[in-house]
Amino acid sequence: MNKQDHQITGRLHSIESMGLVDGPGIRTIFFLQGCPLRCLYCHNPDTQNPEGGKIVTPSDILKLAKRYKPYQGDDGGVTFSGGEPLIHGEFLAESVKLLKENDFNICIDTSGYGQKKYYKEIFPYVDTILLDIKAFSEQAYLDMCSVQQKPLNDFMNELENYGFHGQIWVRHVMVPGYTDNKKSMQELIKTIEPIQHLVERLEILPYHTMGIDKYKELNMPYLLENVEPMDKEKAKEFEVYANVLLAEQMSKDRIDLKEKQDVGSSALESNVSLEEHNKIIGSFSNLPLLQHINSDILADIQHNLVVKKLEKDEILFQSGDDPNYMYIIYAGAIKIFNILPNLKEQIFYIYRKDSFVGGHNLLSDSKYWYTGEALMDSIVIAIPAKIFNTYFANKKSVLKEILSQSFERIRWAEDLINRLATINSSVKTAGLILRLAENFGIKKNDQIQIPMKFDRAEMSNFSGLTRDSLTRKLGEFEELGYIRIENEILTILNFDALESYLD
Ligand code: SF4
Repeated sequence: MNKQDHQITGRLHSIESMGLVDGPGIRTIFFLQGCPLRCLYCHNPDTQNPEGGKIVTPSDILKLAKRYKPYQGDDGGVTFSGGEPLIHGEFLAESVKLLKENDFNICIDTSGYGQKKYYKEIFPYVDTILLDIKAFSEQAYLDMCSVQQKPLNDFMNELENYGFHGQIWVRHVMVPGYTDNKKSMQELIKTIEPIQHLVERLEILPYHTMGIDKYKELNMPYLLENVEPMDKEKAKEFEVYANVLLAEQMSKDRIDLKEKQDVGSSALESNVSLEEHNKIIGSFSNLPLLQHINSDILADIQHNLVVKKLEKDEILFQSGDDPNYMYIIYAGAIKIFNILPNLKEQIFYIYRKDSFVGGHNLLSDSKYWYTGEALMDSIVIAIPAKIFNTYFANKKSVLKEILSQSFERIRWAEDLINRLATINSSVKTAGLILRLAENFGIKKNDQIQIPMKFDRAEMSNFSGLTRDSLTRKLGEFEELGYIRIENEILTILNFDALESYLD
């Protein structure tokens, strides 16, 4: 059979059209057949045999998903469960791609065991993973599920490298006598450390005995016969305890990260030569922000200004700092970002020459809630709070300029929200290129050139895509003739094509 004739198929055990607990909103759940695990408490043993079920193609899945789409509403979507859906690697990769092209929200309920070679084709399309953590040590995994724990650990460590950028709901079935104790909850939190920044929900599901009859029908021994169902309220208490532990662990990591960044930015000193200082300050009065300020005042305050050279990645101020200065960017660019609760860096703005930052904080006397860091080698002029409050804060022209930049920043923030909210990677990439063109583009021979002064990690952060997806998309745009990237310069060759993604 050649490649074209090769038909991709999977095995479908059953469908649930209105699932309410297996992912966000109302879900159409496809239970796939076959599972490499043998959990003692499995209440769907009929899904374990890899030879059973009905043979279906990815198009069959799409057709069925479309049929149930009206039930899914705005928040719901499709969930693949099992058995273990990841053992149907090729089929699942094709199915999630088809579903995402048709705008379905996708969730995978997995134990983390499957056909690894397809993961890079599957996970970029997945919005939510329901990750079942069965036990917390090699021996406990062998005892509970007859498999090793290592593949699950590898799965968690590599998940983001597979292109996953969604959320995770961690689940653990609590069986009395096995993990219904605080020590186990501590081990659970330790186990999920590699993925904790992606965890949106942590659930402890009480063990129940509703699947026992299936074992009788299938003539299979049920090894937990003498174990009582888990008390639901007790399970809830352990769930609360585990969530508190998770929050503590994440908060500790955030503090560690913040301490690493702590460079103390409250007292600034000029670090340029006198000659450079005079040259830079000499051009100070030409800044758009200061054009209407009386020249005598400007001459008077010049010796109070600080000129600071920053190296790439050097921090200017950080979240929580008092507003001691207003900064005007004289050369280079400053990125404004925050570390989100999921420990990821999110860039909000990039300020370039003649922009300013900190004016709002001085006006409202509010601390920074974000960090400012040099995106490249840069120079800033710092106006101390006292000078700002005495000479600028009561000037209509300065306030007007601050307001007008606020408007532009709100527009930028709205654009960022849109970019992050959209799932389509072409839209995100086109939006990012056009935004960078607006802020950093240089017109040359009817074309717009953007100097690529940001690395791929920063661009991917800004676009809301993983680095791999962004690189792939930029490559695709180059092949389509929309852009050219050469010698660190991105040239837009087809502006209309990029704009059409945003229409
Ligand atoms: S992973 Fe799920 S389907 Fe597989 S044996 Fe365990 S409980 Fe059953």
